[in-house]
Amino acid sequence: MPELYLHNTLSRQKELFRPIDTNHVQMYVCGPTVYDFAHIGNARPVVVFDTLYRFLKRHYPRVTYVRNFTDVDDKIMARSRESGEDIASITARTTAAYLEDMGALNALEPDIQPRATQYITQMIALSQTLIDKGHAYAVEGHVLFHVPSMPNYGALSRRSRDELIAGARVDVAPYKKDPADFVLWKPSTPEQVGWDSPWGRGRPGWHIECSAMAKDTLGTTFDIHGGGLDLIFPHHENEIAQSRCAHDGAPLANYWLHNGFLTINNDKMSKSLGNFVTVRDLRGQYTGEVIRLTLLSGHYRQPLDFSDMALQSAKAALDKWYGALRNAGAIPDPHLGIPAAIEDALADDLNTPQVISHLHDLATRMNRASDTHEKAALASELTHGAQTIGLLFHDAETWFKQGSADGLSEAEIEAQIAARLAARKARDFAASDRIRDQLAQQGVILEDGPTGTSWKRG
Ligand code: AMP
Ligand code: ZN
Repeated sequence: MPELYLHNTLSRQKELFRPIDTNHVQMYVCGPTVYDFAHIGNARPVVVFDTLYRFLKRHYPRVTYVRNFTDVDDKIMARSRESGEDIASITARTTAAYLEDMGALNALEPDIQPRATQYITQMIALSQTLIDKGHAYAVEGHVLFHVPSMPNYGALSRRSRDELIAGARVDVAPYKKDPADFVLWKPSTPEQVGWDSPWGRGRPGWHIECSAMAKDTLGTTFDIHGGGLDLIFPHHENEIAQSRCAHDGAPLANYWLHNGFLTINNDKMSKSLGNFVTVRDLRGQYTGEVIRLTLLSGHYRQPLDFSDMALQSAKAALDKWYGALRNAGAIPDPHLGIPAAIEDALADDLNTPQVISHLHDLATRMNRASDTHEKAALASELTHGAQTIGLLFHDAETWFKQGSADGLSEAEIEAQIAARLAARKARDFAASDRIRDQLAQQGVILEDGPTGTSWKRG
């Protein structure tokens, strides 16, 4: 296998990936807070870490990928208060929608998908351990992690003590011993969701959720921990503090990977700014494969500006690749593997733009090739190369027929073509042209040939 290099946020460098156990790689990625549809910024880490997961699965005998659901959170409680829908129903509904949307982007389901509410006992136990070891304290129904108890706190985000305090100074609760201390457990009022604990009825803080779920599913130390750039501080910094202090200094993860932001006009796409597009809405206009390619068109650590143009160019690329496969009419040779240049690009910190440029190259060569064997070999390289990044799983005919989710179904189109044929037989050319024009307006192009009428989506 090619040597895999990954950029580690801990060292701010690309490092050679050496798993703890070469027979079993373990990865944890922070998942969504389930109170609403995911926007396509939320889909970026899903597609990026899915691409890494696929790479790892090809090269290691066993991979365990864990991605959690945060199903207890103040945002979920607020949504329930506003809408009147109970929390369990909100989280069940949005969890199902999330899985469906991410499936449409051809993201494989992680091996383990823990839900925070099923790990409350472990969160309470972890908080208690931190109190017992002198890293946390209970006060007024809260349990707080005492930041000065950890000498190298801030190593991941490289924030100085002054920056930490400046960040926390706004509205410091009077019961905090230090302004940077953060919550592990907080009290709930009788109307709020809560669980009994040694500190009274309450609920966990967000950071302790991931430390507890990671420990339970993967153990004390695992290989890769991932998420978006915004999670470095405070979320990942605090996960590290909790887990290391509870486990006598053992690292939580050896490699920390963070994807850059998806932006719109250079602003981070986020629910709070209101500049978001949900995956669900976008799926009405573009297929999941187009959305996936758009998300992989930039390097995962760089910001990626989202626009209609970016989607259009992803669609054009897929049309070109599927078009080359269709025109070649060659059956990809299943014995031929993935082109080495594509595995090498992925092994270099997941360089998906370079993979895409190789795919363009292969499609161009296919269109020029005249020899059938050469075409079949290139078709196989194109198909297998694209599949490494989760693309070109359809056959070309299906691709040109599927179009957008909102478009006409195949049966509707076939019915219109039959109606047009009937009109032509009756020599009603005005009606026949009208049907063709109406279909064109809905993005369906008809081509009349010697064996009848075929169609494709424009
Ligand atoms: P959240 O549900 O807000 O906790 O986000 C789920 C995941 O999406 C986290 O890994 C975030 O870092 C990531 N994320 C949120 N917004 C963006 C964005 N605009 N671009 C890239 N990743 C994002
Ligand atoms: Zn997390």
